[in-house]
Amino acid sequence: MSLSNPADTAPDYIRNLPRYVPGKPASEVKREQAKPVRLHRMASNENPLGVSAKALAAMQAVMADAANYPDPSGHQLKARLSAQLRVEAQQLVLGNGSSELLDLAARCFLRTGDEAVYSQYAFQAYPVAIHAVGATPVCVPARDYGHDLDAMRAAITERTRLVFIANPNNPTGTLLDAAALQRFVTSVPRHVLVVLDEAYGEFLPDVDALHSCDWIAEHPHLLVLRTFSKAYGLAGVRVGYGVAHPAVADLLNRLRLTFNTSAMAQAAAEAAFDDADFLQRSRSNNAQGMVQLEQGLESLGLPFIRSHANFIAIDVSSTGRSGAEVAQQLLAAGVIIRPLGANQLPQHIRVTVGQPDDNEAFLGALKQVLS
Ligand SMILES: *Cc1c(COP(=O)(O)O)cnc(C)c1O
Repeated sequence: MSLSNPADTAPDYIRNLPRYVPGKPASEVKREQAKPVRLHRMASNENPLGVSAKALAAMQAVMADAANYPDPSGHQLKARLSAQLRVEAQQLVLGNGSSELLDLAARCFLRTGDEAVYSQYAFQAYPVAIHAVGATPVCVPARDYGHDLDAMRAAITERTRLVFIANPNNPTGTLLDAAALQRFVTSVPRHVLVVLDEAYGEFLPDVDALHSCDWIAEHPHLLVLRTFSKAYGLAGVRVGYGVAHPAVADLLNRLRLTFNTSAMAQAAAEAAFDDADFLQRSRSNNAQGMVQLEQGLESLGLPFIRSHANFIAIDVSSTGRSGAEVAQQLLAAGVIIRPLGANQLPQHIRVTVGQPDDNEAFLGALKQVLS
């Protein structure tokens, strides 16, 4: 056998990894447009209010120090998180976005032959993280577009080492009942890590209803992941955190790259975490925008999946076109959204809640598609 380059020698489970299909960059859309129209970025669940002024100032304040390595332990940010979340600093791990942490969990706890359970229509990064270490993904059919906890529990075997749950889920926006989720975590054997991904938790009407960090004391097999990318408006800066039993956090901290969060990311996250006013405005813009989108969709007669996050998945099959075709048509009107074909939902599109004028533009363009 003659191998032409090292790519041919990588394990099959690496060579078969799917490529991530990003939402179209606004710059590219602009370039392709015959006559320029205003762009509405509603494809990537980014914060439509932009970045908090306090986070921006905090980043500017540390930029002059860019020649120096950041604090590898993220001491100050961890102290702030630990006080607020009522957990020990040793229970925390910082990540280059929380997506780094879910990959780290897979690298830490899975080996070839192990199984990891996740749900159909859950976040696409889960099967990638599982495949990347040569473990076996076990995808459990969804119920009403959300996690079927009973079926997921039944899918756990003696080979299972990890379970991924997104709550609220991306891309469907479904939310699990807190009591049912806690029962599920209790029912999972203690040697199986449950990764509870709460990237959209801050958008829930009652944020304090998220008690998952409190469960860790009794459930040492729980890893809660949160991010600054969504409600805190820092997707471009790359910072998230995990909360776990100190022994689990210790392993993750040893495996992660020493300087995985930059000085700017740490400073921005700390300032954003303290900017209660920005968070409140993000939450209320989202709540109002969600009502605006739901009412608009109802009057257009398009079914959607009730969402608890900052986006909504819409069934466009009544248009007689696929999600990809509808996305293409919306693009011509300057509205960038995401078709969900890659998530096995070819008849759905996902749109991020924008500011009122973005939502208006989206609904207007969608009406054009229907006519
Ligand atoms: C956006 C998102 C994340 C985290 O994104 P980062 O930018 O890496 O923090 C994690 N899980 C889900 C389900 C998401 O949608």
